[in-house]
This record gives sequence, C-alpha cells and structure tokens, in this order.
Amino acid sequence: MLDSIIDTSLLINFVYVISATLFIFGLKLLSHPSTARKGNLLSALAMLIAIVVTLLDKQIISFELILVSILAGSAVGVYAAKKIEMTSMPELVSLFNGIGGLASLAVAWATIAGGVNLSTFVLFVSFLALLIGAITFSGSVVAWAKLSERMIGRPVVFKGQAIVNVLLIAAIVASATLLIQQPEVTTWHYLVIGLALLMGVMFVLPIGGADMPVVISLLNSYSGLAACAAGFALENNLLIVAGSLVGASGIILTNIMCKAMNRSLVSVLTSGFQPVVTSEMVIEGEVKPLSADDAFYVLEAAQSVLVIPGYGMAVAQAQHAMKELQGLLEDNGAEVAYAIHPVAGRMPGHMNVLLAEADVSYEQLFEMDEINSRIEGFDVAIVIGANDVVNPAAREMKGSPIYGMPVINADLAKNVFVLKRGMASGFAGVDNPLFFKPNCRMIFGDAKETLNNIIRQFSD
Ligand code: NDP
Repeated sequence: MLDSIIDTSLLINFVYVISATLFIFGLKLLSHPSTARKGNLLSALAMLIAIVVTLLDKQIISFELILVSILAGSAVGVYAAKKIEMTSMPELVSLFNGIGGLASLAVAWATIAGGVNLSTFVLFVSFLALLIGAITFSGSVVAWAKLSERMIGRPVVFKGQAIVNVLLIAAIVASATLLIQQPEVTTWHYLVIGLALLMGVMFVLPIGGADMPVVISLLNSYSGLAACAAGFALENNLLIVAGSLVGASGIILTNIMCKAMNRSLVSVLTSGFQPVVTSEMVIEGEVKPLSADDAFYVLEAAQSVLVIPGYGMAVAQAQHAMKELQGLLEDNGAEVAYAIHPVAGRMPGHMNVLLAEADVSYEQLFEMDEINSRIEGFDVAIVIGANDVVNPAAREMKGSPIYGMPVINADLAKNVFVLKRGMASGFAGVDNPLFFKPNCRMIFGDAKETLNNIIRQFSD
C-alpha cells in the first residue's frame, strides 16, 4: 500500500536521517549536565524510531514479536538502571557494551550464515563485525567480572602472554581468510568466533585496577565500530551512522581520560607488562589530625568554602550530607563552590552524577582550570575522599609517577581539610605530600560520618 504512494526505501531513509539528526543533537545535549537528561531522552527516542522503522521496513518478524521484544528489552533496561548503585555504574556500562558487541556478532553471523552469493566486501565487513563484536563481548564480560570483584581486579599476566597474543592474531587472520573464501563452511564461523572471544579475554586480562574505566570506554568505542561494520554488512545507513557516533565518541572519551591521567593509551593497555615504578619521594612535614568539632569552628568562621570530591565520596555516599552542610554554610553567609577534576572517581562525570543526585546546582560546579586560577582566595578547601586529583606531587616532585598530571591545587587554599579513613594512597598508589603541608588537617573517618558530625555541630 505504502509502496504505491511513495517509494518505501526513500521514506525509510528519510526517517533514518531524522533519527541520525536526533542522535547528533542528543549527543550535543549530553555535553552539559543541565541538558544531559534531555539529551538522553532525545537519543532514546531516536533509537526507538530507528528500531521500529527498521523492523517495519524489513518485515523480519511479526509486529507482535517486535512489540514483545521492545517491552522485554525496556523492562530489563529500566530494572538494571534503577537497581544499580552509583558506584557500580562502570560495571553496568561494561555489560551494556558487551551486549552491544553480542548483537553485532549475531547480526554478522546471521548475514554470513544466511547469505547466498555474498560479495567479498559484505563478507569482509561481516567478518569485522563478528571479530570486533566478539572481542567487545568477551572483553566486557571480563571487565565486568574484574570491576564487580568476581575475579581478581589486578592485571593478570603470565609467561609468554605476548607470544600467545601474536599467535592468536595470526590464527584470526588465517581463519578469516578461510571464512571469506568458504563462507558456507560453518567450521570457519565457529573458529573465527571462538578465537575472537579468546582475543577479547586476552585483551582485558593484563589491565587492572582503576585503569579499567579507560578499557570500558575503549570497549564502548569497539561496540560502536562493530555496529558500524554490521551496518555496512546490512547496507543499513542508520546503523553505520549510529555505530560511527558511538565509535568516535568512545575514542574521544578514552583520549580525554588518558590525557587527564597524563598517560598514553598504549601505557594503559600494556600496564600489566610494565615494571612497577617506585619513586623515592621524600615528604617533609607531619600529619595533623583534626576532630569534626574543631573543623566546625573553622567552617563557622569561613567566608568561602571549596569542596573537592573524589572517589571516597562515592564510596561513602557522602554527597547528600555534603549538600546539607552546603546549605548550613550558605545560611551562615559563606560562598560554597565545588571543584571537579576530570578523572575524579572511577568514571568520567562520576562526581557530576553524584552531586546532581544530591541536587547540587550546576552553577556551583567548576572545572579544574577555572578553579585553580582563584583557589588561593578560598578560606577552606574540603577534600572529600579525593587523593590523586589533589596530589601536589604532580606539580612538585619530578620523580613521582604522577608528575605532570594536572591536579586541583587544594594545597594553595588557606586551610585544607582532608576527609578520609586513614593514610591509604589513591588509585595511583603514591604518597600525597598534601597531607603533610602546614595548612592541611586530616579528619579521619568515613566521609559521610565526618560530614554528619560537622552538621550536628552546626545544628547544635
Ligand atoms: P583516589 O582513588 O586517588 O583516592 C580515593 C581516596 O578515597 C582514597 O585515598 C581513600 O582513602 C578514600 N576513601 C575511600 N573510601 C572512603 C570513605 N568511605 N570515606 C572517606 N574516604 C574514603 O580518588 P580520586 O578521585 O582522587 O582520583 C581518581 C583516581 O582514579 C585518579 O588516579 C584517576 O587517574 C583514576 N582514574 C579515574 C578514572 C575516571 O574516569 N574518573 C578512570 C581511570 C582512572 P582511605 O582508604 O584512607 O579512606
């Protein structure tokens, strides 16, 4: 019926252009916290349009099944997003990436297995989707297991691992050649999929600790590339565009994270094979503990307070207590600002998400460069569970493994209160001279409890 009124494929491609435009606008809106929610909704709408139009167009399965699948997928998505703790977000993202990779793998496999007289180009891009999809899937599962402590989180390396990797790559190239030459032989399908799955495991095993978020961002990019390759295999323009957007944004994010950690992507990916760096830093000064009661007196007199959150705030879930303290400080006449380091926490935007959850206004959040230029003016800097991102060794100690990493210069504020449980180091595993500076006081304990103690003093 539709065919008789207008060329269906023209209509479909027109809807695809609308969908792709919505994706691009969605991404644009995601770049600022105040518009991120809208961006998410817009992108979800674009995805819904894309799914419906694609399935209606190709008449792959019945409408009832399409509806049931959409409802089932949405239910799982809503449940997972609602149930997940904020500190477990990287694990969820990892699983989502893995499922994306698995979907591309399934599409590519169906294309090869179900196709007749497929061109070499289609076979090649299907192989790419199969390969990248499988690597993304198994790599993401290992990443998820590491992050959720279902397996050891540190890098896993064994003797001869590099040789095994080279042999694996050679085996994949050989089996891909066979697959493209004889696509009807199912043995080659299983061989390529099996080897690619193994490759994904081998890729993530030697990476560990807090390098994992970088890997997840990279796997996110891979899931996009796999979708893009599947788009070429299916000759589906929207899948090509959407896959490219995910692939490109994942790579950009990976690059931003590496830069903020002053690392190269190669050094992150090969961290397990590198010798452990031990620096011989000599830190002078002494640690001066302070009670929450005494901290209250200083805060009561403060005119300006800078809050610097880090991973420990996420662990302690101290953002709501901080928001409450912020209200009390403001009622007391103080200006309160938040300084956000690009790699504070364990995933990009980690602090922004937590503070948004506690209803902290976006206007009070400042990026590192912006706040560093006026940090000397703050009466008190409260460092909540941050360590590496406020470590002055990055500025002052040439031998330090984090030397050169851009940090928030908390030590330049008039007074610094560091809220943490003990003297443990952060992700980078290096000592922090900030804790020994004359203007720094350590308030030991869980960050949320400490903040609640200070709040109680204000209320009294
Ligand atoms: P860090 O990992 O440097 O330090 C976190 C500190 O929080 C620890 O020293 C710990 O000390 C403290 N802490 C833990 N639990 C609590 C608690 N309940 N209450 C109070 N304090 C607590 O965190 P930063 O945010 O400063 O730095 C992030 C690090 O992660 C950087 O090195 C960054 O490069 C890395 N990274 C970040 C990524 C990202 O995307 N954000 C990605 C990859 C790496 P204690 O145990 O003594 O309490």
